[in-house]
Amino acid sequence: MAVIFWFRRDLRLKDNPALLAAIDSGEPVIPVFMIDPALWDRAGAPRQGYLVDALQQLDRSLHSHLVVLHGDPAAHLPEFAERMNASAIYASADFGNYGQRRDARVRDGLMGAGVRCELIGSPYAVAPGRVAKEDGTAYRVFTPFYRAWCRHGWRAPALPAPADGDWLADATSHSDGYPTVAIPDGMTIPTAGEEQAWQRWDDFRQHRLARYQELRNRPDVSGTSGLSVHLKWGEIHPRSLLAALGNDDGAETFRKELCWREFYADVLHQAPASIDASLDSRFDAMPWSDNQEHFVAWQHGRTGYPFVDAGMRQLLAEGWMHNRVRMVVASFLVKDLHQRWQDGARHFMRLLVDGDSASNAHGWQWTAGCGTDASPFYRVFNPVLQAEKFDPSGDYVRKYIPELAHLPGKAAHQPWDHAQGYDRGYPSRIVDHSVERQVALDDYSVVKNT
Ligand SMILES: Cc1cc2nc3c(=O)[nH]c(=O)nc-3n(C[C@H](O)[C@H](O)[C@H](O)COP(=O)(O)OP(=O)(O)OC[C@H]3O[C@@H](n4cnc5c(N)ncnc54)[C@H](O)[C@@H]3O)c2cc1C
Repeated sequence: MAVIFWFRRDLRLKDNPALLAAIDSGEPVIPVFMIDPALWDRAGAPRQGYLVDALQQLDRSLHSHLVVLHGDPAAHLPEFAERMNASAIYASADFGNYGQRRDARVRDGLMGAGVRCELIGSPYAVAPGRVAKEDGTAYRVFTPFYRAWCRHGWRAPALPAPADGDWLADATSHSDGYPTVAIPDGMTIPTAGEEQAWQRWDDFRQHRLARYQELRNRPDVSGTSGLSVHLKWGEIHPRSLLAALGNDDGAETFRKELCWREFYADVLHQAPASIDASLDSRFDAMPWSDNQEHFVAWQHGRTGYPFVDAGMRQLLAEGWMHNRVRMVVASFLVKDLHQRWQDGARHFMRLLVDGDSASNAHGWQWTAGCGTDASPFYRVFNPVLQAEKFDPSGDYVRKYIPELAHLPGKAAHQPWDHAQGYDRGYPSRIVDHSVERQVALDDYSVVKNT
């Protein structure tokens, strides 16, 4: 007999309770990852490329024992378990919309085949649904959720990585192999893997955490951890990060940011439709625009607003964008171009290496003013003032927009005010921010009056 460990969003060996439970079963373990077309086809090349790299790193840690299967898990896993004479499948629980439905189908199939299904732990310090108000209902506002989440607390990450030699040796002959991914020319994606995640964390903790509160909004300096992609794939668990945080300002701010990830997972778990529907449905009645030219200009970083364009080009170049800039480009799409947040969210999900359904849908809804604890709709980011405040030297804009690299300092934020501003082919503004701001506020009266 054997047992299967099904890796999903927990591509690590350290502090992996479900993996340790599989090993504790005393049977040889077959480590498996399934390339599920329902998830794979939704991801663009950056996330696909990152995942393949992450799986190869994981396989190295498993001394080449990882079995990669392709197909619908509900159709393939029960059959694979039977073929391998496995008595059980172990995995970390998934709290996402699709993951929950998939796991219910897999569980049914396994029951039919007489195979146990053990779901243990989650990708969160506190599993979604656990933190609730006294009357049992879900929190809709972050700060009280944060307080209750801290009170609830989380386990210490004392669990070691398993020792070598627990893996079943001959299962890899069943592997379907790694898919090939073509990363677009000029795009660089972060290096994957558990070891890399720990290196990033150690580096951030030692050199940048103390100034996190001060620098986290600055896209021109490396002030944040860059851990979102590792958290997305579970190469490091938030428990491990939380355990090392003290109580100084930097640590407290970082703990709160980790909690936003947990809060949004909780909100999506409680309101699954909010993956694609505004929590405040009055926003559906706003007169949204379908201007494709505007949408394409936004996607390609050619709106004529340098801070917005730098962000969108960073996304195209790296599959990642700084949080402050995510808020500004999202606000620009919704409030300057009057387009639905859902279209922007879909574009993000295709390109982001850290693309996460809950953080993405609710990051968008927060900015669009229709979500939980949302920034009010009438708070319209001015893309020039945001640039001057958070990219004071213009370095971020110059880094991603070569057509503005010749403009000194803050001049890069307003090429329209510089004699050589358009000399290198930078596009002029597709809309006038002050005009569109007013249009957005007028459109908003539909919501206010509903
Ligand atoms: C429109 C929009 C879309 C977003 N889409 C995603 C997404 O698909 N995936 C994703 O992981 N994050 C998303 N975020 C949140 C945030 O932008 C990223 O988590 C952050 O930029 C990642 O960089 P970092 O790891 O250096 O963050 P740090 O500042 O180092 O923060 C540490 C960790 O805290 C969590 N975190 C920080 N800020 C947020 C936040 N506002 N919401 C949720 N979690 C947060 C992340 O896990 C992050 O890795 C989105 C934000 C917005 C405004």
